[in-house]
Amino acid sequence: MRLPAALCRGPARRTGVPGAARRAPAHERMLQHELRHALARDQFHLVYQPICSVEDGATRSFEALLRWEHPSLGSIEPQRFIGLAEDSGLILDIGDWVFRAAADECLRLRRGSASEVRVGVNVTQMQLASRPTTQLWVRYLHDIGLPCEAMTLEITERTVSRWPERVADHLAQLADSGLRISIDDFGTGYSNLAMLAQLRPHSLKLDASLVQGLAACERSRTIAHAVVSMAHRLHMQVVAEGIELPAQARISRELGCDLGQGWWYSRPLSPAQLPRRLAAAA
Ligand code: C2E
Ligand code: MG
Ligand code: MG
Repeated sequence: MRLPAALCRGPARRTGVPGAARRAPAHERMLQHELRHALARDQFHLVYQPICSVEDGATRSFEALLRWEHPSLGSIEPQRFIGLAEDSGLILDIGDWVFRAAADECLRLRRGSASEVRVGVNVTQMQLASRPTTQLWVRYLHDIGLPCEAMTLEITERTVSRWPERVADHLAQLADSGLRISIDDFGTGYSNLAMLAQLRPHSLKLDASLVQGLAACERSRTIAHAVVSMAHRLHMQVVAEGIELPAQARISRELGCDLGQGWWYSRPLSPAQLPRRLAAAA
């Protein structure tokens, strides 16, 4: 089942990270070289975007998003370097740092006033294929005293549709440990519905290209409505991504989405801004 890109002309895709092996052009090789040092040189940080109830706007969780501040190249978007990090294998170390930093932040927030808040991190197939990595995550959560259910792993639908059995096994083990699974950018790849039965994710994130087409395209609304019905019957929550306008928030709510994420609710925030955001929504 291929969702609406083919049906309605929507905004260009923003997300999705190419990871296929190939000979990189010179500027990518330069970036890859710089990437090797970025972790040791403390050039990464995380920002956190609220994921909110579409009913009352209250913040329920945050998505951790990676930022790379290079001293001379400036701020480099994840879409420019995550694929390079995968090609070089650096994603294992970088992704590990992301997971731990996000878990530490979640623990800080829970020890503050938000005892039930969750934090999601984006993970790639290569990370999930590595058993030591996934085992270390669970151990880390136990060590710091954060319940596994506080952390969500966001996996893009594209990744899921072509993964090997081994990855599915590791992911099932992580889910058994209590980590939550979310299918990111749903509706942009070849939606692998059998995967939903096998994997039992906790939530689906409707891709921004679908959400941003809702107001103008009846067929998009019909498809989104069908996806929401299916998700709810499978006991999954639905997050509408990329909500920029009040009309998109309203239609997402009318279609039955549970949660919304996008600039209409909030831009990604620094860690220092999070307690205030949670207090405002309380
Ligand atoms: P994603 O996981 O789908 O994250 C949502 C992206 O949409 C973020 O871009 C966010 O800043 C952006 N966004 C949120 N609301 C709006 C909106 O209303 N309008 C628009 N136009 N954009 C919005 P960002 O931070 O540039 O990340 C892009 C992608 O890079 C992410 O897409 C994710 O696939 C990947 N990524 C980010 N951080 C990580 C990470 O730590 N690890 C991995 N493996 N991938 C990451
Ligand atoms: Mg995501
Ligand atoms: Mg997404």
